[in-house]
Amino acid sequence: MLFSELSKYYEKLEGTSSRLSMIDILTEMFKMAKEGEVTPIVYMTQGSLAPSFKSLQMGLAEKFAAEAIGMSAGRSKEEVLKEYKKSGDMGLTAEEFAKKARIKRMKSEHFSVSDVFERMLKIAKTSGQGSQDTKIKHLVVLLSSSEPLDNKYLIRFALGQLRLGVGDATILEALSSAFTGSRDFKAELEDAYNKCGDLGKVGDLIARKGERGVKGLKVELFSPVRPALAERLPTSEQILEKMHGRCAVESKYDGLRAQLHIDRKNRRVEIFSRNLEVLTPMLPEIARAALHEVKADEAIIEGEAIAYNDSTGEFRPFQETIQRKRKHGIEEMSETMPLTLFAFDIMYLDGEDYLDRSYEERRRKLESIITPKGRIRPSDKIVATTAKEIDTYFENMVGDGLEGIVAKDLGARYVAGARKFSWIKLKRSYRGELSDTLDLVIVGYYLGRGQRAEFRFGGLLTAVYNEKRDMFETITRIGTGFSEKMMTELEQRLSRIKVKNRPARVDAVVDADFWVEPRFVITVRADEITKSPMHTCGKDSTDTGYALRFPRIISDGVRDDKSPEDATTTKEVIEMYGMQKRTRLGEK
Ligand code: AMP
Repeated sequence: MLFSELSKYYEKLEGTSSRLSMIDILTEMFKMAKEGEVTPIVYMTQGSLAPSFKSLQMGLAEKFAAEAIGMSAGRSKEEVLKEYKKSGDMGLTAEEFAKKARIKRMKSEHFSVSDVFERMLKIAKTSGQGSQDTKIKHLVVLLSSSEPLDNKYLIRFALGQLRLGVGDATILEALSSAFTGSRDFKAELEDAYNKCGDLGKVGDLIARKGERGVKGLKVELFSPVRPALAERLPTSEQILEKMHGRCAVESKYDGLRAQLHIDRKNRRVEIFSRNLEVLTPMLPEIARAALHEVKADEAIIEGEAIAYNDSTGEFRPFQETIQRKRKHGIEEMSETMPLTLFAFDIMYLDGEDYLDRSYEERRRKLESIITPKGRIRPSDKIVATTAKEIDTYFENMVGDGLEGIVAKDLGARYVAGARKFSWIKLKRSYRGELSDTLDLVIVGYYLGRGQRAEFRFGGLLTAVYNEKRDMFETITRIGTGFSEKMMTELEQRLSRIKVKNRPARVDAVVDADFWVEPRFVITVRADEITKSPMHTCGKDSTDTGYALRFPRIISDGVRDDKSPEDATTTKEVIEMYGMQKRTRLGEK
């Protein structure tokens, strides 16, 4: 496929405000792709060059993009920057300059999608002295021999600002209809995606090897599994009922979720976060322990890394664990405040995929390859058959400063990438008013009047994720409680992902001063969930949805460990609303 054809699809995607037509456009686009082109098209459509765990994102600085646009159009960088100031969109500026320079240009080169992808890879990978010049040169080659519309998307892509608003689920649905003729195969594609965390790979499999190829996909080392998630219930009685009278109960540690991939023969360890980004450099003591302590040649194990004092048995607060997420001083910290990995699952061991084995079997294996006193040790666990046992265990855990418990179905397989009742969490905070937090996606923002009468950041419009509809539904506006630092950060980050119209996957009845691509997640606490016609979260036939009363942001800025699709879901809000009612009734 020519890149100029891809640009036309991108233009159509940008112009639509309906998710269904988005799928139709993507379906047609995938049908047009030749073998071998599906993977680059999937990555590029998501605005990247590889899955997140390969840490290879585009993100050229604006000044270099301006220089490349200038060079390709025979104009100065300053002229480009001046125009950019007016348009606020470097892609549009590139398109304009290309139009004006067109007469002077040679004939278009007709770059293929693969040509562009290869060059973008070179741009992303070039580093060190003189690398900026090389990056600019590659970009100039692409810009000066392409159509103006291509220039727009080339520049947006190079800056990491493609913003087509296409989510994983949308791509999966389109892949299914393009290569099987129906959307019904989406669930199997999703299953494969959950096992390898790589949408490009799944696209390639269905295009080349068809349905059987997708179904046969196995877990592999260094290709992270999308993590299983827990449902919630308000009482241990309900948990036990759901688990048919017998279940495992583990401590719920409030730290960093970490998935370890260990290849002992080649002395290679990689650690992935909950949203499949590389955490290895931040957890050097865990990576070292993985090679020394885990009795296996190859393994994928999962757990929660937390600051824990072995001599006093004391768990440190999340704020201390999270200090690891920084660039400097990590080695020192790994000495002064080492983290411990409380391992709770195993997905792969010495050539065998463990996802379909029962919890009991996986847990037995896990306990046989690590020791109870190591830096990597099994999470604390009991097996319970009465609600009283669960309650006592829960009280003990909370007394020890932990968040609560996670109950696990002894017979269940590992349900990658999904929130299912095979894991049920019970937290301290469910017992009382709505003090459990919600992770909300920012979909828009408002301007307020600053002290010196100029307009500036004034608040957020936020949403939850509806998994069934693959849409973001608004739940609340948040106008207070921002520190100066947070306002500046939000203003800067949001202005970079502004879009002209409400994105196709955002459902809202209220307006925002600016819409943004759903990308950033914040954690919010509220007093109560109420019914409201103002928001689309869980909207029923009478157009009444759910909203939050007195919402306040409690995360220290944006949650970089969560993707928009990891936000609290509509289904969870409805469940929380039900719990809130029950708790109140119980109090009377
Ligand atoms: P939440 O983030 O509140 O949805 O709770 C689920 C998270 O709890 C998981 O993503 C893990 O990071 C964390 N967690 C802590 N301890 C455990 C455990 N024993 N089993 C499973 N998840 C755990």
